[in-house]
Amino acid sequence: MKLSLKISELIDALKTLPGIGPKSAKRMALSLLSSNKEIGLNLSKSIESAILSIQLCSKCFVLNDKEICEICSSSDRDNNSICVIESTSDLYSIEETSEFNGRYFVLNGLLSPIDNIGTDELRIEKLLDLIDAFNAKEVILALNSTLEGEATAYFLFDKLKKKDVVVTRIAQGVPAGGDLNYVDNNTLRRAISFRTELK
Ligand SMILES: [Zn+2]
Repeated sequence: MKLSLKISELIDALKTLPGIGPKSAKRMALSLLSSNKEIGLNLSKSIESAILSIQLCSKCFVLNDKEICEICSSSDRDNNSICVIESTSDLYSIEETSEFNGRYFVLNGLLSPIDNIGTDELRIEKLLDLIDAFNAKEVILALNSTLEGEATAYFLFDKLKKKDVVVTRIAQGVPAGGDLNYVDNNTLRRAISFRTELK
């Protein structure tokens, strides 16, 4: 049933967003159209303005609105550590913890033959340049513990051997509040192999 081509087009556009299925897209579209017009128009203006003004930082490749991002240009950040992440969204998650005060480097995705992301796509040369620019001593690999994340971590580890840096990975194991009876075997295996000393 197509009451309106415009409504169908809006639903189709919303369905392209990650995590939004047909039902959610329909609910969002009809809610936008039936509420105060200002709400929808503001949303559309924000999307357009962000898309037109946001670019990749030329040093770390995080999405931001400057040629060089706030983190790369800040003198308050620690030059010793560079945290390698898959996407800008990971930077937001790590910044929210306030546990890390170093620099970042955003890979162009993770190694994935299905998505045509090979070793040439990871911008490894740019990461090596950044290590030199900050004279960093540690590279932290904060990548997903998926097959793609593992493959990427091993590839990076191999490439970073020629640099005078310590390569670390974020710890993987039992989640906070997790019950060992409900943790899958792989996670538990990692938790045991990456155990840490109590101090
Ligand atoms: Zn940057």
